[in-house]
Parts: sequence; structure tokens; C-alpha cells
Amino acid sequence: MTVEELIVYGKSQISSMHAKMLLADLLSVNPLELLTILDNKIENEIVEDYKRRVEAAKKNLPIQYVIGSVNFYGEKFLVNENVLIPRFETEELVENVVEYIKKKTDKNLKVLDLGCGSGNIGLTLKRLFPSLSVTLVDVSEEALKVAMENAKKQNLDVNFLLSDWFSKVEIEPYDIIVSNPPYLSPTEEIDPIVKDNEPSLALYGGEDGLSCYRAILKNIKPYLKEDSFLAFEIGEKQKDAVLSFIDEYLKDFRGYCKDDLQGRNRFLFVTKKLD
Ligand code: GLN
Repeated sequence: MTVEELIVYGKSQISSMHAKMLLADLLSVNPLELLTILDNKIENEIVEDYKRRVEAAKKNLPIQYVIGSVNFYGEKFLVNENVLIPRFETEELVENVVEYIKKKTDKNLKVLDLGCGSGNIGLTLKRLFPSLSVTLVDVSEEALKVAMENAKKQNLDVNFLLSDWFSKVEIEPYDIIVSNPPYLSPTEEIDPIVKDNEPSLALYGGEDGLSCYRAILKNIKPYLKEDSFLAFEIGEKQKDAVLSFIDEYLKDFRGYCKDDLQGRNRFLFVTKKLD
């Protein structure tokens, strides 16, 4: 079959966008490039793979799980149903940390990524700044496996730790601690495709959605230096609550929130107090 025939077939089963994404990934091209190779003949093995993926996509699985990967900060990350699908906002979180690191003259920094999932945050930082010493922590063994595979594929030398937040993390000071913890409350309305497919462990933060911030911030002090930098993704209505946790647990530090590109309050940063 040709590329064009495959697209026509895919479109008869699933959305045109998804059909093109599935095929483009199999052919290792950008979806837009498909238009330039419409007459190319595709070997049977790929045709069969494509049809299998179309069937999977029909079951309303997130397209990233069907493809098995997602692009994050310019790199392909493997994903499966054991990890949260990395989001666009999280690229913004990483961007903020990148800006912070760029300003540091000494880049031999110790970084901790709490709740690493697929490893997207910690591994991206390591890729961009090879001199960092990065530790990725997750409570899910299955998630850590995915993060390890991503590290291997990207040839990155980092540490992994199976731990419920700090429970197994040895006490030593970190320069940067970053986390995109689960922060939804069970009553929050979310897209059924997310709710039905992504791991609840990666989505929900207890009754009020804030329990992970509490658990992290309550225990974080021994892991900090005077000038450590903390960066968290938060839910858009959680600003006041998370700032109150900083007042409660990290009096010597300054917490502030930042909007994402859509103007929603989505990030919490903690730094040394201004003199
Ligand atoms: N750190 C991962 C991400 O940002 C996983 C986050 C999570 O599972 N809550 O995608």
C-alpha cells in the first residue's frame, strides 16, 4: 500500500490527525512530511504495524501510549500506561530550571527529581547540562523502569531510587529539587481519556490534591542548602495553599508562583530570601 492509501484507511477508522501521527512515527518522519511521500510504497510489515496501531487507537487509548513515545523538550521519551504522559506545561517548568542553571557559574550541581515518572524532567536537565549529578526518584517500580530505559536510550548517566518521596533518599544537600507531583483532587473534573488511562498514582494528590506538596515540603529541609532552588508544578488553584506550606515548613526561604503561557498559575519556586 502507498502512504496515501494508508492515510485514507486510517482516516476511515480514527481522526485524521491521529492517523497521520501513527503513520509518521512508524516511518520516522514528521506528520507534515507525509504529504511529500504520498506515492511511496510501504512494506507489508509496517502496514501491519500501522493497522495494529489504528485498532489500538480506536479503543480510545491516549495516542502517546499507542505510539509508545512522546516528544519532550526536543527529545523522544518512551511512555507506557505506567507513567504520566509528559505535558507541555512541564516543558515550561524545565525551562525555568534551565534558566536558573544557565546563570550559575559552577554547574556541578546536585539535582533531585521527585516523582520522575518517565524521567522527562531529570533526564532533560542532565542532557542539557552533563555536569549535573541527577537523582531520579519514584515510588513506582514500573515507572522507574521506563525512566531507566529512557536514560539508556539517551545515554545519560544518572542515579535512580525507588522511594516514597524522601523516605529512601539519603540526607545530603541538593542544589536543585524539582517535582511535578500528582496534584488533582478526586472530585476534579478531568478528561475521561486521562482518568481512564493514565496511572491514578501519578494524577491524584489525596483528598484535597495537596497531600504530595505537604509530604515533600514537610521533609525537605534536611536536603537543602542555604541557596537551594526548588521548582514545582502546581494545579492552577493551589497557589495560596502551597505558599502557606512554604511559610509553615521553610521559613528561611522565599516562595513565589508563576503563570504558564496560558496565564494560569502553574508553578511554585522557592529560593533564598532576598537580602
Ligand atoms: N515527572 C513526570 C512528569 O512530569 C511524572 C509526573 C507524575 O507522575 N505526576 O511528567
